[in-house]
Amino acid sequence: MVVEKTCPVCGSQTSAQQNYDSVCVFYMCPVCGRFEITYSGIELLHNTKLASFLFYNRFKKTGSPEYRYHTTLSKEKCDEYKKEFEKGDTTHGHPVHMDSDIIENWYPKTFAERVDYILLYLSKRAKHIGQRVTLNSEELYSLLFIDRKEIDDFTRELEPRQDFVCKYEACYMLDYLAHEGYIQTDAKENEIPSPTNILLTPKGYSRIDSLQKTISRGSNALVAMKFGDETKPLREAIRKGIQDAGYNAIFIDEVQHNDFITPELLKHIRDSKFVVVDLTHQNNGAYFEEGYAMGLGKPVIQLCKRHVQLHFDIAQKNTIMWDAEEDIPERLTNRIKATID
Ligand SMILES: [Zn+2]
Repeated sequence: MVVEKTCPVCGSQTSAQQNYDSVCVFYMCPVCGRFEITYSGIELLHNTKLASFLFYNRFKKTGSPEYRYHTTLSKEKCDEYKKEFEKGDTTHGHPVHMDSDIIENWYPKTFAERVDYILLYLSKRAKHIGQRVTLNSEELYSLLFIDRKEIDDFTRELEPRQDFVCKYEACYMLDYLAHEGYIQTDAKENEIPSPTNILLTPKGYSRIDSLQKTISRGSNALVAMKFGDETKPLREAIRKGIQDAGYNAIFIDEVQHNDFITPELLKHIRDSKFVVVDLTHQNNGAYFEEGYAMGLGKPVIQLCKRHVQLHFDIAQKNTIMWDAEEDIPERLTNRIKATID
């Protein structure tokens, strides 16, 4: 049964569907997108970072049918439903697991990172340069990472915060962005009109450009490859090669459970010092990630099993051709030491 409800995350009017035994509720929120809260995952609603996580990563109804949704179902269950979905059974759609670790991992760690996320979001939302982005107050709070709830000092319970406090903080953030010259907005001096209009300035766009081009001095290396049981030995060989060279290997399926290109994946590529791609399985995702990394000026190290035909464009690049997984760690370590740093 579909009913109108208040979204438990952002407070918008939302359509919600409760299943017959009420172990989970499926929401279609205009701000948080499609998501499901199961009975066992209800604790996640206490996570104050959930609202921004859903807003930035939402699965929305678009022109084409959307089967993806965030859910507190276990990873295993999501895998099972995803396999059914890939075989053409759409009963459970395409669930994407979420939990506190995933949210924590995605959440910006510093003030500067928040600013970056906000500007990137605005540039994505404005289809054209110079186009105004119009947001209602629920969207604005999620965009600006304003906590809607907090632990009360006396009761130790999570309580909703008063709207004027949230508004004040939203103003503070917008004032900062406007003062730095990144945006223009019709919100000023503690007055936030609803909806609020925000316009990215040329200075805002130039921060976005340099953000996307910055070569990270971090110690992470993102690995793009085909994931699955059959590639486990390959994955471990690559991990060892990267670790022996003194870097952390980031495998995207270990930090998120999702086959689609998401802001989180792009962020991992941006934050990586270099990218390692294994092209043995001609995986489209790996080609895309390599292309994106190259566009950012990141060094890319290619691997491929010998005798596999490579796509023409990248076939000419110097590639580590391997015969057996055991050969990979040492050769990869040497290549990293020779070409990165
Ligand atoms: Zn919502």
